[in-house]
Amino acid sequence: MFSNILGYKIFNLNKDKLVQYVLGKDKVCVISGNPEVLLNGMKDKKFYDKFNSNEFVIIPDGVGTVVSAKLIGQPVREKIAGIEVMDELLRISAKEGFKVYLLGASKDIIGKCSENIKNKYPTINICGFRDGYFKNEDVNEIVDEIKKLEADMLFVALGSPKQEDFILKYMEELPCKVYMPVGGSFDIFAGKLKRAPNIMLKLGLEWLYRVWKEPFRIKRLGKIPKFILIVILNKIGILKSVENI
Ligand code: UDP
Repeated sequence: MFSNILGYKIFNLNKDKLVQYVLGKDKVCVISGNPEVLLNGMKDKKFYDKFNSNEFVIIPDGVGTVVSAKLIGQPVREKIAGIEVMDELLRISAKEGFKVYLLGASKDIIGKCSENIKNKYPTINICGFRDGYFKNEDVNEIVDEIKKLEADMLFVALGSPKQEDFILKYMEELPCKVYMPVGGSFDIFAGKLKRAPNIMLKLGLEWLYRVWKEPFRIKRLGKIPKFILIVILNKIGILKSVENI
């Protein structure tokens, strides 16, 4: 069920199996394991330990992760995109009556995102939403609101590592069963950004499309080859300790 990449347990079955696994847990956070998130996790033991704990599941979301898994002989069945997992969890929430809370993105985007999700899944119960540009002193109020609303699923889009940090800090005290940091997914649901065309998704070129649409991302692209190189060096024994890379 899991491939081992640099000590991370990466879910290696398909998306349907992942969703089954998530719904079978009492409390779980789904981490989009792209090279950037995994490298960030290695710089901070708090992230690394939590990501590998029983309450977290890492999905191979990114060509860098999929390629690395293959290179070290522990292939994953498929790339699992975080946004597709979110979409499937929303569909199931609408069907089963799970309450959903959305936290993140700008005020306009989060309003539009919530509206579009309701149009797509008319029976969904979005019990609350809030933009992601809040002050530190507002955090307690947000956490209290999610508690009061008894949300079952919490999707957080604050960019990485802020969104993972928020979930790590508050997951224990919150009542939700499913937690998921979702990066730019609210922008996509709101229609501000589009996903790459299918052909690019199939060829593993989503990263290229994102850089084309948002050129500021070019600086972050180096993380993909860096990650693959670290995985290979670790596998052949040249790089033994992968902490603080
Ligand atoms: N965002 C936010 N608060 C912040 C920083 C970012 O709500 O303080 C939102 C931003 O508006 C966007 C989302 O976080 O909707 C994801 O940002 P980004 O695309 O940088 O994340 P990535 O997917 O690259 O991790």
